[in-house]
Amino acid sequence: MTEIIPTVDFEADGKQIGWLRLPHSVTRSAYGVIPIPIAVIKNGAGPQILLSAGSHGDEYEGQIALTRLIQTLESEQIRGRIIILPALNLPAALAGTRVSPLDNGNLNRVFPGDPHGSPTWQIADYVEQHLLPMVEVVADFHSGGASLEYRPHMSTHFSVDASPEHKARSLEIVKKLGVPHVMIFERKPKPGVLPDGAMRKEVFSFGGEFGGSGSVSPDGVAYVEKAVRRLLAIFGASEESLPESMELEAEELRIFGPKAYVYAPEAGVFVPATELSQQVQPGDLCGEVIFPDNPGRPPVSVFFEGGGDVVCRRHPGRVERGDCLAHLAASR
Ligand SMILES: [Zn+2]
Repeated sequence: MTEIIPTVDFEADGKQIGWLRLPHSVTRSAYGVIPIPIAVIKNGAGPQILLSAGSHGDEYEGQIALTRLIQTLESEQIRGRIIILPALNLPAALAGTRVSPLDNGNLNRVFPGDPHGSPTWQIADYVEQHLLPMVEVVADFHSGGASLEYRPHMSTHFSVDASPEHKARSLEIVKKLGVPHVMIFERKPKPGVLPDGAMRKEVFSFGGEFGGSGSVSPDGVAYVEKAVRRLLAIFGASEESLPESMELEAEELRIFGPKAYVYAPEAGVFVPATELSQQVQPGDLCGEVIFPDNPGRPPVSVFFEGGGDVVCRRHPGRVERGDCLAHLAASR
């Protein structure tokens, strides 16, 4: 049973901005709570939608778009209920870090969480056991964070065991959200990311990656804002008329397995040889690791094992052996 107490009434009409209070007793604050921000915007019966960002605290586009949404969206403009969490792992969001400084928890790896675990695990449990059962669709927004930069894409996750209707509708919707590239994840749910929880609860699951490099991509923010507007309209939560370009289909991509990823073979400074969006073949040069600390040593070249689009690149130049340098995705 969760110890998180919401200050909002999920059943009340209108717009409420409040907190999920997660008890956190520490020396500085014996009876303190971690106040996770939440907004509930409700107008009678209708679609039930959950929007979240800040699962990873160093990924900002979703945090910005959802904060603005809370300030601008009024209950009279919608039908149903929209639950918005712009800084889901609040301690990580405040620290600007991927994992929580309180427990090193990576919120988007610990689902289904644990109601008796440390804060990150408790947040995951609350989302899976309390919030996901209240909604029919969730969208959780990410980016590359401090260590990666992404070409923006929208994504959808669904279970291999989902109904044909659920799969078809997930695919149809994700391509209509206004982002030119979409990533499809079809697999069995497992312990891990928020979409695994959505699969377990049979909730439509959307998300995506919208920038990175530890920075804010204005284009990424605009994509998230557009995707949210369209999602609300597609599910009938808003009256907004959908633009003609809705009918333009986005390019469908999949991460095709371990060979989609390239890792640093040595510690050093990585010099990339490709740009985001570049198409590569197996054996193409990904870049080289050089050794300024040992300048007589020749560079070590790194090659792609798979073929496809470069959708993600490492951001910091300095690498350790095993750091992800790039990953690919390809159309089926
Ligand atoms: Zn993330």
